[in-house]
Amino acid sequence: MPAGLTIRDCAAGSDTLLALCRDFESGRLAHATLLSGESGTGKRTLAHLLAQGLLCAGDGPKPCGSCRECRRYAARTHPDALFPAPAPREKTIKVDALREMIDALSRHSLEGGTRVIVIENAERMTPQAQNCLLKTLEEAEAGTYFFLTADAETAILPTIRSRCRCVRMQPWPEKRIEQALIKRGIPSDRARTLARYCEGSLGRAIAMHEDESYWQARDLVRRTFLSVQKTSDIAAAAVLLKDQKDNGDRLLDILEQEIRALMHSKMTNEADTADDFPVHFSGASVRDLRKILECLLTARRQKAANVGWAALSEGLMQTIAEEASKWQQ
Ligand SMILES: [Zn+2]
Repeated sequence: MPAGLTIRDCAAGSDTLLALCRDFESGRLAHATLLSGESGTGKRTLAHLLAQGLLCAGDGPKPCGSCRECRRYAARTHPDALFPAPAPREKTIKVDALREMIDALSRHSLEGGTRVIVIENAERMTPQAQNCLLKTLEEAEAGTYFFLTADAETAILPTIRSRCRCVRMQPWPEKRIEQALIKRGIPSDRARTLARYCEGSLGRAIAMHEDESYWQARDLVRRTFLSVQKTSDIAAAAVLLKDQKDNGDRLLDILEQEIRALMHSKMTNEADTADDFPVHFSGASVRDLRKILECLLTARRQKAANVGWAALSEGLMQTIAEEASKWQQ
């Protein structure tokens, strides 16, 4: 869970989530909440923030992240927070995990009267486990809150869904992520880049922001693949890439991300991305960029077939340099 993210951050811009947020703040949260949506929509982050927030003993907006309860929640040692999950080396959540949860619910003395149960990927519960959960939902005491997350709501038994407040989470639009990042104090040019590449996930954007190795790799891609303008530039760039064999997949991923973003901006006439790009790319057409992507695909195949990193990265730069020399004529 990205540090410092608040429930309000997660809910910004969505009426459904703001309603959920208001119910949380006024202590009217439903007894069971099912958050569903594609990967990266923030359902897991929100589920944990709500659960932690219910246990938080801090003043001000909850969860505060620093009180004893919050710290115990984050460390997964809070006695009133339960996380039924697949057993080690198993993919499904079996009924045993649910029985253990029920056992723990009956055994623990309540510290603050509130208990939370978070079941991530609830669709991984076997039908038997889902039936066991259903009984628990029917009989749960006041002060016990369940949070379920699932990629698709329909993977959960209708009888369970009918006892949950079902909230569908949507990928965030780029603009909304950019604004949320700026609000967190991230400089606007970086916020724009993050918003473009985080696939609609604020959590992913923040993780990328904090991952220094990503920025180093991106910088390297810019100083090599995206800087060669003629064949004679390749030798110097090759020196920078020499020891990057183990980092090769990541560099190719970033290069593809960058080229696709530029291509998208050319197709939609969005100036933002193009402005952010090395200036010699301004002459590139969508067709030229597609050709670079095709060569990138070839490079990936070569890498999978154990072709040397130096040969394939230089081959790719050769194509880019040949294309770039045409743009400048
Ligand atoms: Zn707290």
